[in-house]
Amino acid sequence: MSRLDEAVADLLEEKTGRYSPVAAAVSIGGGCINAAACVELRNGRRYFVKSNPAPLPAMFEREAEALGAIAAVGAIRVPNPVGHGGGVDGVSPFLVMEYIEPGTPSPGFQAELGRRFAEHHLRSRHDRYGFEHDNYLGSTPQPNGWSDDWVGFWRERRLGHQLRLARDSGRADAAVAKLGERLMERLSGLIAEPQEPACLLHGDLWVGNFMCSRDGEPVLIDPAAYYGRREADLAMTMLFGGFSRAFYAAYEEAWPLADGSSERLDIYRLYHLLNHLNLFGAGYRGGCLEIMKRYAA
Ligand code: ADP
Repeated sequence: MSRLDEAVADLLEEKTGRYSPVAAAVSIGGGCINAAACVELRNGRRYFVKSNPAPLPAMFEREAEALGAIAAVGAIRVPNPVGHGGGVDGVSPFLVMEYIEPGTPSPGFQAELGRRFAEHHLRSRHDRYGFEHDNYLGSTPQPNGWSDDWVGFWRERRLGHQLRLARDSGRADAAVAKLGERLMERLSGLIAEPQEPACLLHGDLWVGNFMCSRDGEPVLIDPAAYYGRREADLAMTMLFGGFSRAFYAAYEEAWPLADGSSERLDIYRLYHLLNHLNLFGAGYRGGCLEIMKRYAA
């Protein structure tokens, strides 16, 4: 066993009360940030383990916290977090969670995903916006805290935060910075209504962040969770596609969107586009400018 495997086996003993050494660890690709593996213990149990020699501060704690919060709502499945460890004696920090064996989506899969996602939003309604700790959107720090004011939250901790990062790194040129400022002045007129409650958002639901389990069940992974208005979650699903009409129809059957949603979805999409500008560079500048011009020029 490698030292990482030993540390994983020790953590699992601590969490489950039973020791079993790691028999096999099979790498899983597809992640953007961390190394991932399916780890099988000699007793046959399997776990999903993410590790990173130099993770962002408390990144795995925050992921476990978000998974735990979504699991607690009970409407849509996420891998149960088991625990985190490493970061000492040369063992990389790691996160252990339930292993989800992938399956093949049935024709009704997208509708089920949409129905459960709406159910999750409905059941998790909350009276404040934000989250207990700051966390990450991909590898970008995402400030949270708590607020009663959605427009102020979105201005300061979402758009304003990404615009500041883009300005400081030089990713935002004068045109992006100026239009961004103007858009923020107009934000109240754009997203204040409808005055919906906060819901627990996945926060980063693109096509790479849901799975189909072996028994055909939708499973969400890799959240950047916080309490916010649900249209912000739906905006992310629309950024790269991969969600069918059946998904949106089932979502809206369970909880219809209020009139005027398409303009608000543009504003919420801008947050993710700015994040991509910050993470991946100028290829996302045009998409940011297009929305900014439409609503702030
Ligand atoms: P990263 O933190 O690097 O972005 P992800 O959370 O996206 O990593 O996970 C990488 C890949 O591993 C996913 O695309 C998915 O296919 C798979 N995966 C994620 N979580 C699990 C899990 N609990 N069980 C099985 N496979 C998983």
